[in-house]
Amino acid sequence: MLFFPSVMVHCNQRGAEAIVGDVAHGFLYEQGGASHLAGISINTIKNNPDGTFDLDEFVNKVRGFDIHEPRTALVMVEDTHNMCGGRVIPLDWLEELSKRAREHGLKIHMDGARIFNAATAMNLPAARLARDVDTVNFCLSKGLACPVGSLLVGPKDFIKEAHRYRKALGGGMRQVGILAAAGLVSFKQVIPMLKDDHRRAKKLAQAIHDANSKNFTVEIHNVETNIFMIWIKNSEKIKTTDLVQRLLKVSQDELDAGVKDSNGKGVVVKVSARDWNYVRVVTHIQIDDELIDLAIKKILYVMNEFDKE
Ligand SMILES: *Cc1c(COP(=O)(O)O)cnc(C)c1O
Repeated sequence: MLFFPSVMVHCNQRGAEAIVGDVAHGFLYEQGGASHLAGISINTIKNNPDGTFDLDEFVNKVRGFDIHEPRTALVMVEDTHNMCGGRVIPLDWLEELSKRAREHGLKIHMDGARIFNAATAMNLPAARLARDVDTVNFCLSKGLACPVGSLLVGPKDFIKEAHRYRKALGGGMRQVGILAAAGLVSFKQVIPMLKDDHRRAKKLAQAIHDANSKNFTVEIHNVETNIFMIWIKNSEKIKTTDLVQRLLKVSQDELDAGVKDSNGKGVVVKVSARDWNYVRVVTHIQIDDELIDLAIKKILYVMNEFDKE
């Protein structure tokens, strides 16, 4: 929710507008809260498959010169881009976005929920990725493995204002030092391990890709971090939820075929889907090399089962 205080500071004029990607978390998964909490409108822009959007289209969307229009005050960018499959936003694109946004007097907020995954993939400090934006939020509780916690980063006067809004929104907490301590563990221990999540995601993606299934595919060159998509080739025939449900079940046939761990227990793989033709796969700190190999076995078995039908 930390991104609301940010939106509220950047769009502090009633009736302002923010430009947000059409598959960005800020548009899809926050109940449209920018409207009902911050009192602003969201103007969506079509995301490219890599999480960016067209910068000419962006500039064309900036408005507020005419009395009939809302005033565009903010543009948001998500890095890594979750629903685009954990994609890392290119630095030269960010630089150009920033240049154009500033030419039009806009602020730029980065939804960097997974900015440390992006930084790991680029082998650069997160600060470099955030160089061209005004403010960033990131999550401790996703790949960084904390039980709870998000942070907002920006200039001092911005944070001072955002702090007030956070309080008004009910986001204030007491005695949170113990939670902040978990965040320090993330910084010291978990961030250096993100590269292993990425390596394991790639291994799994590669195995799915190499299976050459007639029903499922992975765009292997787009697997950059700990998130990737399994695409359903014929979504008329197979629903994403069919795959999700099947991966949660263990059949006697698969046990007989050896899809089990060293104790003989069956394998369940949890992946997520919505009403689109892909399933989202995420690796994290609890999925080690042994588990990723079991996941590969299970997924290949299930894909083959669908392919035989
Ligand atoms: C989880 C998530 C958020 C929300 O984070 P909070 O912890 O609620 O602040 C924002 N953006 C993305 C891309 C996310 O995945």
